[in-house]
Amino acid sequence: MSEPLGDGTRVIHGGARVPAVGDPLHPGPVLSSTFALGSGSGDPPTDFYGRAGNPTWRALEAAIGDLEGGECTLFASGMAAVAAVLGTCARPGTVVLPSDGYYLARTLASDLGLPVRLVPTASAPDATFTDASLVLVETPSNPGLDVCDIAVVAARAHAAGALVAVDNTTATPLGQRPLELGADLVVASDTKALAGHGDVVLGHVTTADPALTEAVRTARTRGGAVPGPMEVWLAHRGLGTLDLRLERQAANARALATALREHPAVSDVRWPGLSDDPAHAVAARQMRRWNGVLRFTLADADAVGRFLAASGLVESATSFGGLRTSADRRQRWGDDVAPGLVRLSAGCEDSRDLVTDVLAALDQMG
Ligand SMILES: *Cc1c(COP(=O)(O)O)cnc(C)c1O
Repeated sequence: MSEPLGDGTRVIHGGARVPAVGDPLHPGPVLSSTFALGSGSGDPPTDFYGRAGNPTWRALEAAIGDLEGGECTLFASGMAAVAAVLGTCARPGTVVLPSDGYYLARTLASDLGLPVRLVPTASAPDATFTDASLVLVETPSNPGLDVCDIAVVAARAHAAGALVAVDNTTATPLGQRPLELGADLVVASDTKALAGHGDVVLGHVTTADPALTEAVRTARTRGGAVPGPMEVWLAHRGLGTLDLRLERQAANARALATALREHPAVSDVRWPGLSDDPAHAVAARQMRRWNGVLRFTLADADAVGRFLAASGLVESATSFGGLRTSADRRQRWGDDVAPGLVRLSAGCEDSRDLVTDVLAALDQMG
């Protein structure tokens, strides 16, 4: 009899093989682009060429697949993962995408000439799916931090014959298990909290459907959007502390969101972990834990610039999920949001220092 292992154990041991005596406990990245074929004329060995497969990839794929309950396929970036899902699952029908989610998914779908229907995340469960081949939801959405019920979307989309993919970047594999909620595919940018140290660009797709795994792996091998072994190795090292980092980041996000709501210069604070957030009820039902990403609105673009200049701890930078607290003004990237909307990624600093710094910066902003 065995209890299911906890998150902190699984991020360290998940997918790991028992080492043979004398094996390195901490093997480095396998950088070789080519592998010994031997003299036989049969099938090539598991590893033969670096675009088709690599042992360093397989180690992280096993770890992420264990957390998400499926087969993971790594990609060179989150967008390469999104592109593989659009390329393999979006035809022949319409692709339903979040109007308030990651902007490049929308841009890419229209670049590919796909028929697209945009739906706000919060109303995705009520959208029309009858003509859809693929429904992509992003929950919590970036940067809106709205949430939708994955199980309801999956049931309605499946009834209409569509596949469902969930962009799980913000939640992370510890925060949400979309395949257990009925999704067909998970897609994510591991550039964010999974790798977690701001030094890697990486993405993945996970599915429990062998035919979809095959299609996604073929898209990777032929399209060539393969990750570098060094990046994969760094991300695997980062994954080992994801449980610890999320715990601190979520505590910091809660402290910041709570303090920000009381400040007169701040409006519209959203973090799904707040018990009175509009997304809280659905998020609490389907998510396993919170994370460090929140958003709020200042008066205008200038106010955001003054706030970031006055803060000593909040880096003005895009991306999220790293050790350092960072924030950026989303309208500059073309998101359809208020000019003063700030997405803030709470890092792993001490809560008291962060809250003190952010409140002082808001006061100095004038
Ligand atoms: C960053 C991000 C992506 C794109 O990932 P990259 O690794 O930058 O290519 C996709 N979806 C979401 C929700 C993201 O935040």
